[in-house]
Amino acid sequence: MRHNSKLPHVGTTIFSVMSALANEHNAINLSQGFPNFKSDQKLIDLVSKAMNSGYNQYAPMPGNLELREAIANKFERLYNTRYKPETEITVTAGATQAIYTIISAFIRPEDEVIIFKPAYDCYEPTIELNGGIVKAVQLNTPDYSVDWELVKSTISGKTKMIIINTPHNPSGTILSKSDMLTLQELTRGTDIIVLSDEVYEHIIFDGSEHQSACLFPDLKSRSFITASFGKTFHNTGWKMGYCCAPKELMNEFKKVHQFNVFAVNHPMQKGLADYLQEPSHYLELSQIYQEKRDYFLDLIKDSKFKIQPSKGTYFQVLDYSDITDEHDVAFAKRLTIENGLASIPMSVFNEKGKDDKVLRFCFAKTNETLEKAANILNKI
Ligand code: PMP
Ligand code: GLN
Repeated sequence: MRHNSKLPHVGTTIFSVMSALANEHNAINLSQGFPNFKSDQKLIDLVSKAMNSGYNQYAPMPGNLELREAIANKFERLYNTRYKPETEITVTAGATQAIYTIISAFIRPEDEVIIFKPAYDCYEPTIELNGGIVKAVQLNTPDYSVDWELVKSTISGKTKMIIINTPHNPSGTILSKSDMLTLQELTRGTDIIVLSDEVYEHIIFDGSEHQSACLFPDLKSRSFITASFGKTFHNTGWKMGYCCAPKELMNEFKKVHQFNVFAVNHPMQKGLADYLQEPSHYLELSQIYQEKRDYFLDLIKDSKFKIQPSKGTYFQVLDYSDITDEHDVAFAKRLTIENGLASIPMSVFNEKGKDDKVLRFCFAKTNETLEKAANILNKI
């Protein structure tokens, strides 16, 4: 049988590739972004309790109402803004499904979608699957700042969506208030939808404040915000997340969501609803990860890698240009196979594979793992 691939250029995601290589060579895995410590036992107990209390059949299509209420309360507490639990919040199978469904609900063939490179890897294939055209704007290096003049000149009558991500995977940078105000002005009066991927909203360092799209009224009126419980509560394997948007946008989202997944894991939703009642569970995250970042960076401060401390997320980018001029994919593979440490080469997220000689390391790991990784990095 012959078939014509809808995604001829797409192979296996770099996260699967590097994690498999790490397993094959018994390497320390700082590549794929997931914590190697346990989720809170309290949360696991709450999910077990939900299963034992009968939360085992379909949840309502947009999600368990208690969870949607808890999410709405979190928005009020943190950002002093209101999303209606009944109509403006949907619980999803991770942020990935939210992103997939948002793009599928709005992007038609020939619609243009602006993304910033390096970009998280699920945006582009999803746009292409829906016939959309990716308009990539490369971020400035080495600080990964946005060239807003370039964004302005990339916006056209065909621009249907702009996807932003703050704190940013893979660079570990954040968008400032002034960035968000500029985006708000550039989109004001247009029909452009903003997809604001905020899965790392609770992991932000050095006293910076997360600039959620919901803080800017005109931006909020055109934005979907996507979030991930996996990132926030150390259980990426549960694949739980949510998205919020004004009612009219969310209505369109739900038309697709109901046939894409209908509803997501019910006992976990109930467990998360109960767990969210205690704000410290997410408020403590920045401190936990800032300590990890600082611990890791202190351990490698005398290595040959050049360091710009991460400002958010649990990723640290390291510049190896003083060590070798090897291509980053080759260097990441060699580091895994010969030295026993896996990372992610940044070029795979860049426009035209631009190789800046930087690797991404995930520091959501126990101190013991970070020490072992640092020992390897210090010897290179
Ligand atoms: N967006 C970004 C920027 C991510 O790093 C990830 C990976 N967690 C996702 C979306 C997807 O999140 P989830 O695992 O909840 O699907
Ligand atoms: N978000 C994770 C990362 O950036 C990986 C998610 C995945 O494996 N698809 O590493």
